[in-house]
Amino acid sequence: MQAIHLKPGREKSLLRRHPWVFSGAVDRVQGEPASGGTTDVFSSDGRWLARAAYSPRSQIRARVWTWTRETAIDAGFFRRRIRDALATRPEILTGEGVARRLVHGEADGLPGVVADCYAGIAVLQLTSAGAEHWRDTIVDALASVIGCTQVYERSDVEIRTLEGLAARSGALRGDVPAAPVEINENGVRYLVDVVSGQKTGFYLDQRENRARIRGLAQDRDVMNGFCYTGGFTLAALAGGARSVLSVDSSGPALSIGRQCAALNGFEDDRAAWLESDVFQTLRTLRDQGRRFGLIVLDPPKFAPTAAHAEKASRAYKDINLWALRLLEPNGLLATFSCSGGVGADLFQKIVAGATQDAGVDAQVVERFHAAADHPVVLSFPEGEYLKGLLLRRI
Ligand code: SAH
Repeated sequence: MQAIHLKPGREKSLLRRHPWVFSGAVDRVQGEPASGGTTDVFSSDGRWLARAAYSPRSQIRARVWTWTRETAIDAGFFRRRIRDALATRPEILTGEGVARRLVHGEADGLPGVVADCYAGIAVLQLTSAGAEHWRDTIVDALASVIGCTQVYERSDVEIRTLEGLAARSGALRGDVPAAPVEINENGVRYLVDVVSGQKTGFYLDQRENRARIRGLAQDRDVMNGFCYTGGFTLAALAGGARSVLSVDSSGPALSIGRQCAALNGFEDDRAAWLESDVFQTLRTLRDQGRRFGLIVLDPPKFAPTAAHAEKASRAYKDINLWALRLLEPNGLLATFSCSGGVGADLFQKIVAGATQDAGVDAQVVERFHAAADHPVVLSFPEGEYLKGLLLRRI
């Protein structure tokens, strides 16, 4: 039998159903669980707590699959969990060109497993030893539950090294998608490069926020900082923006953005695309005396963990400060942070500091979160990484 026995008192977080067992909580390991193999977890007084995946190299020594002793971890388990995930996103099977996150890791009871669906093509990202161990089973379950013929893997992320896993990507079922996949989001056509784009190809978590920006863009001059492939840009153009300036440091991402604008028939003269550093560009725009009615800032994760929070705070403050100065009176700033290491309260404090240093007053009009297909379970608050504020300059 494979088992982890915890130190006295270290069962508390598991009793609250937090799904991670940290190495420091482990008193002893019974048997020799393989990397990713299944192990039971017991409290120091011998109480059964959970069944988990063992990860010998990681600080997160085990991730819980189930809190129910009778539940075996086998092919049926993965099929059920993926079926449950699909039940809350049924539009994946019915809509034309629909793009949704089908499995969102811990929040869907599958730690280390992310599966995104883009117009019938599934893109899988496995980031834990447990997910890696069950790779073939998970692929079979995914393909059978959603009935798709193409599954592509994008497990080429840095965090895998923490689990002692090498990067992997490639076709798992069917062919490698030959060209960017076309999806339809709220009536806007987007192109998604699932093979070499960022994440699994697209920032699905911002879908509902893009719809909101669309509703705010009418007749405004918009600046979209960190635009990637133009997610917010296309939404703003669809919403009747007068002009949109999109800035990103990635040439390939901008090139897809331009193609998307053409695909949707948006006039060239409304959209400008700039390959540049946003920190620098904000200052240049200020020097040029430019003004905007709506600015979107959706930077990359400046703080993956709380240890990076201080440096990240300076970066967030800097971009927000300069963006606020570029706003017309009554102009709007939609500002985001996807840093796990910067919580919503801290983010709001940083932005408040930016308004003070910019010498402007601003109201919080709305708050943004990740879209509903990226759920948060209350017992795992770490899962709530994306936060944003809609500010109005007064
Ligand atoms: N809002 C986008 C996603 C943004 S992801 C959407 O809805 O799809 C963050 C982007 O920031 C990436 O495309 C990355 O290339 C870009 N980036 C990172 N650092 C940058 C910098 N200093 N200047 C400009 N772009 C940067």
